[in-house]
Amino acid sequence: MGKINLLSAETFNKIAAGEVVERPSSVVKELLENAIDAGATEIHLEIADGGESLIKIVDNGEGILEEDLRHAFLPHATSKIRSADDLFSIRTMGFRGEALSSIASVAKVLTRSKTAGEDGREILVEGGEIRYEKYAPMDQGTLMEVRDLFYNVPARKKFLKTKSREGSIISEIVAKITLAHPHIAFDLVVDGKNVLRTYGTGEQSDVIRQVYSKKVQENAFYFEEHYDSFSIHGFIGKEEISRGSRSHETIFVNKRLIQSKVITAAVERAFKSFATVNRFPFFVLNLEIFPELIDVNIHPQKAEIKFEDEGHIFKSVFQTVHDALKKGLQGTFDVKAA
Ligand code: ADP
Ligand code: MG
Repeated sequence: MGKINLLSAETFNKIAAGEVVERPSSVVKELLENAIDAGATEIHLEIADGGESLIKIVDNGEGILEEDLRHAFLPHATSKIRSADDLFSIRTMGFRGEALSSIASVAKVLTRSKTAGEDGREILVEGGEIRYEKYAPMDQGTLMEVRDLFYNVPARKKFLKTKSREGSIISEIVAKITLAHPHIAFDLVVDGKNVLRTYGTGEQSDVIRQVYSKKVQENAFYFEEHYDSFSIHGFIGKEEISRGSRSHETIFVNKRLIQSKVITAAVERAFKSFATVNRFPFFVLNLEIFPELIDVNIHPQKAEIKFEDEGHIFKSVFQTVHDALKKGLQGTFDVKAA
């Protein structure tokens, strides 16, 4: 007998799930992105016990076709791309078709969904196994309840932080995602308490006020600049609202929340030119770029991307933010002088 085993789909899925579903907040992020991709204008999110016992999301998006419902939980099942060629023109948040299958392999997932022309259907998947599927009329959209996360992977459960810490990680990530989608009304309930609500006014500055405060909203300058292959817009805060950590630095590329050393360095350098203390700026930076010019597929959680021309991005971001601060602060001085 040889020594090499071919792993079963179930085992393979549990292993792969570890890459996508690191902690409860990864589930929240994936489910939010699915609701956003479905074109929802209202998204309700509820969690209990730091997301360990319950993560519930309800959206009013396009819904899942009745015949697709059971397939949505298969590995590599996606309606968003057809072939590798499509990777170069991604407009959706998701595309790997891994989230639902990963989540359902390490939790108990109840889904109810309805498209415009159908009645609605419900399915329960536990540890990767479909328990039942049935007729379930409802309003258009999708509801998902993820219960008992990591119930069948005790090793992973052990590495979670306290429930309240996992809860705040979730609140932070939800808050950031709402910033990128000012047209969507979000509301987040943590252990029965509403902790965040946005109204879908379409103005990012309104969301900044809801997520942070009126003070932050009033102490940030708007910037906007268009280049050949990309554009940048967003808000940079005055020194008054600077921070001791990078917690209030947010970057979206094509509305995707990402980490970027290049962009962070460019904004911080611009901020430093005007700062009198050594602190981190508040900023929200939105970069819109042709999808062909970035690679979003270098990270399983899609948290990092690669730019074709990093130098150009650095210079443009630096210049835009620098000019905004210069103009904004001059305006402030003028007001004071007058
Ligand atoms: P991906 O988002 O990468 O396509 P997922 O595993 O997250 O993969 O989801 C699989 C598929 O299930 C999606 O491509 C989509 O067709 C469907 N789906 C998941 N969530 C929703 C939702 N909230 N509304 C409508 N369709 C959804
Ligand atoms: Mg997805």
